[in-house]
Amino acid sequence: MLSKPKGTYDVLPTNSRVWVKLEQIIRKVCELSNYLEIRTPIFEQYETFHRDQSDSSDLVNKETYDFIDRGDRKMTLRPEGTAGCVRAYVENKLYVNNKVTKLFYLGPMFRYERQQKGRYRQFSQFGLEAYGPKSALLDVDIISTAVMLLKAVGLSKVRVRINTLGDSESRDNYRNVLVDYFSKHINDLCEDCKVRLEKNPLRILDCKVDKDSDILKNAPLISDYLNEASKLHFKQVLNLLDELKINYVIDNHLVRGLDYYSDTVFEIEYESDVLGNQNVICAGGRYNDLVKDLGGPDIPGVGLAFGMDRLLLALENENINIVKPRALHAFLITLGEEAKEYGLGLIYNLRLQGFMCDMSYASSSLKAQFKEADQNNSHFTLILGDNELKEDNINVKNNLTDEQVTIKINELTEYMLKEINKCHNCGGKCHEKMSN
Ligand code: ATP
Ligand code: MG
Repeated sequence: MLSKPKGTYDVLPTNSRVWVKLEQIIRKVCELSNYLEIRTPIFEQYETFHRDQSDSSDLVNKETYDFIDRGDRKMTLRPEGTAGCVRAYVENKLYVNNKVTKLFYLGPMFRYERQQKGRYRQFSQFGLEAYGPKSALLDVDIISTAVMLLKAVGLSKVRVRINTLGDSESRDNYRNVLVDYFSKHINDLCEDCKVRLEKNPLRILDCKVDKDSDILKNAPLISDYLNEASKLHFKQVLNLLDELKINYVIDNHLVRGLDYYSDTVFEIEYESDVLGNQNVICAGGRYNDLVKDLGGPDIPGVGLAFGMDRLLLALENENINIVKPRALHAFLITLGEEAKEYGLGLIYNLRLQGFMCDMSYASSSLKAQFKEADQNNSHFTLILGDNELKEDNINVKNNLTDEQVTIKINELTEYMLKEINKCHNCGGKCHEKMSN
């Protein structure tokens, strides 16, 4: 028997509606904040993600799915959304007529990782990207849109952690101080951190292994090495968050996994232990040089990415249901061959009128068919026998009121509409006519 690749999972019909709903909520939130969708390829040229030999992130070094295609081109399955977005932004010159470009994307990402709850080899991200002037307004536009999404799905047990890495001048300054400091303690650092000390010393600060050591706790803080411009930018971001009444905590050790960040970095974590180290459901920050580094003009960017899988795990853990129970308007059960054949035409016509319908296809007993109707949770059960059909009649049972009537088949649509509009559940909102 074949099985799914390690680190992947099937979204089965029972769960796929939750994914669709989450995507709908995301699209709604993006519409409200005026982020427009961009769809970039699932794979890109290898260099799109592996730009810089000095990149020290795990993602770029160990986690990408790289392959040679049949034309001998080196390709990479996208491990994240930002690089592809920036590539598309530059290649399509989206900056030409726009002062600010606000984009969103959602879809699968691929990383060769050790499988754990909330950590997969194929997972889904929803991301926001804003390219334009280096304004704190855009940082907070992005963060507040993330907060809107959390409000929209009803997840309140979350914490926004924020930090600044400063601009390149501040960061260079700080990096030197850090190298001095950590060099003195090199023998007490974990193996990964010894490498980080050479490639990207800032990343030692968020080391999961050394995180409780005194060396890390006593390390110099970026806040003491920021130049005036960097201080001002961070202060503006925090002031705006206060203005919007968005709670946050400043975390001096937050540096993020990717090497391209500058100034603002942030994470949103789900405040529960169930996801372990996988409790960060959203992460992002500012990257002032990425557009330029990918061959574009000198336009700063800021962005974030939600792990949709983790967001759904958090909702599940909080017993938050974003979908209503599945329901049909009508389920048809039949008695006799003629009625069955006529039945498909009948429900086809109802479907064309905007009613969600299905029927019992198997030749089973009435009792079994009623059970099937129950499982499909339909508002009406339509019962059609060869005898009724001869008289152009049909039996309609309203499962919400338990009323049963016999009516003419050509009155069915009108009857169902009338009843649905009276329905105390939604007042008829569940019925929407097909537009064409
Ligand atoms: P982590 O520290 O958990 O490895 P990361 O820093 O690699 O996360 P990002 O590259 O910032 O994560 O991606 C943004 C978000 O995407 C993460 O906060 C997380 O919610 C989600 N994510 C990242 N990797 C995975 C994965 N392998 N499986 C599921 N979700 C993931
Ligand atoms: Mg990671």
